[in-house]
Amino acid sequence: MAKGFDSTLFDMSVGYDLKGVRSPRVRAFVAGMKDARAVVERLRAQLPPEAARWRDLPFTTRVSDTVTLSTFHGCPPGEIADIADFLMSEEGLGVVVKLNPTLLGPTELRALLHDALGYKDVVVPDEAFEKDARWDDVVSLVGRLERKAASLGVGFGVKFCNTLVVENRAGFLPASEKTSYLSGAPLHVLAMHLVKRFRDRFGEKLPVSFSGGIDKTNFPDAVSVGLAPVTVCSDLLRPGGYGRLRGCLDELGKRMDAVQAIDVPSFMRKSPGVAAYVSAATADPRYARPKNAAVPRKVGSELAFFDCLTCDKCLSVCPNGANFAYEPAAGEAPPEGTLKKRRQFANFADFCNDCGNCDVFCPEDGGPQLRKPRFFGSLELWKSDGRDGFFLERADGAETVHGRIAGREYRLRVTGAAVERSGAATDGAPFALMDFLRKAVLDSPKANYING
Ligand code: SF4
Ligand code: SF4
Repeated sequence: MAKGFDSTLFDMSVGYDLKGVRSPRVRAFVAGMKDARAVVERLRAQLPPEAARWRDLPFTTRVSDTVTLSTFHGCPPGEIADIADFLMSEEGLGVVVKLNPTLLGPTELRALLHDALGYKDVVVPDEAFEKDARWDDVVSLVGRLERKAASLGVGFGVKFCNTLVVENRAGFLPASEKTSYLSGAPLHVLAMHLVKRFRDRFGEKLPVSFSGGIDKTNFPDAVSVGLAPVTVCSDLLRPGGYGRLRGCLDELGKRMDAVQAIDVPSFMRKSPGVAAYVSAATADPRYARPKNAAVPRKVGSELAFFDCLTCDKCLSVCPNGANFAYEPAAGEAPPEGTLKKRRQFANFADFCNDCGNCDVFCPEDGGPQLRKPRFFGSLELWKSDGRDGFFLERADGAETVHGRIAGREYRLRVTGAAVERSGAATDGAPFALMDFLRKAVLDSPKANYING
């Protein structure tokens, strides 16, 4: 097992409603996470002979026995309690309940968001407060679940916090979407206020985990006030992607060195505490509207099928790693054109959920997930998807490209010097394009989703 693998914590996330959590599919998932022996044995048996020496590698088969419960916005507090109770009693899991920022109540939340932080254009609908659990509900829910957990000998804690429901007024999502969900810098301050309020009421006895606008600058602050685990989320959607996580740990190390803290408990003791941090964060311009108003720069050019500014941002900002680069051989060019750049970009449809984040950060217009060649990992998916794109396969000494271009389907099969073409093309252009992509992607010097 890789060094440190055994110190990785796997926490399940289940949500939605009690009916969903009780469903056979979710229960089977939970059972598999609690006891993965059958899966591990099945996968061991599938290791090919050249990897046989790893068949006996020790592997943790109790992958997880904790769950973070993230219910829908508007889930009634009684149902949250019933789900948590069920997961503890019936599944024997330690439970963390993730709570909503609306717990602050409309007066405090709007004062913070609009007056202290300056997000006057962000509107939180009254229904968000009416539907969500209120502070008094949560106080009694926490008491009930704390007692239940103690009687069963399982862990219980809370997490601050979920995203904030706001009216969709930013113009980015279609007008048909009535609400959107706020995260990032302003949520950090709201969530920290909830942490303070919770600590004021319950003290230090219950573990509190945190998610809300965490980046490398404030990660050490969250650790310093005793929050664990600390989730990084929105920040990973920026250029650098998951590589930005390293900065969090580096910064924590620097801050601990600065106060000569040898471990996290001593770092916590040497830090000013949650009340001081909440005051400082509320007044810190980095969380206020002016510092967070800018959108990524666009240069005004339309993204094309081939060539672009080659900034590579679409690779790191994709949370699913769905975009990839490929390099045609020197001198190779698509039909009716030349390439200005050797490094080209494509999208792997199997991993893309069309979230649009690469479009946000791409300096050109159009969206890499829509404008660049789209490849599928299976013929079934290519057939069922219906959008333009390609499926490439190597089998029985042949390389075959299934292509859908402007809605028309073509097939190109190359076996040595023999070439078969099918599909109603008026000229050879679709086949020339497919042949170029076949060689460029399959023979690209670095592994990608298609040639790997
Ligand atoms: S739209 Fe697709 S490729 Fe782009 S960031 Fe989202 S998942 Fe990744
Ligand atoms: S498609 Fe856009 S984001 Fe990706 S490398 Fe090209 S210019 Fe950069």
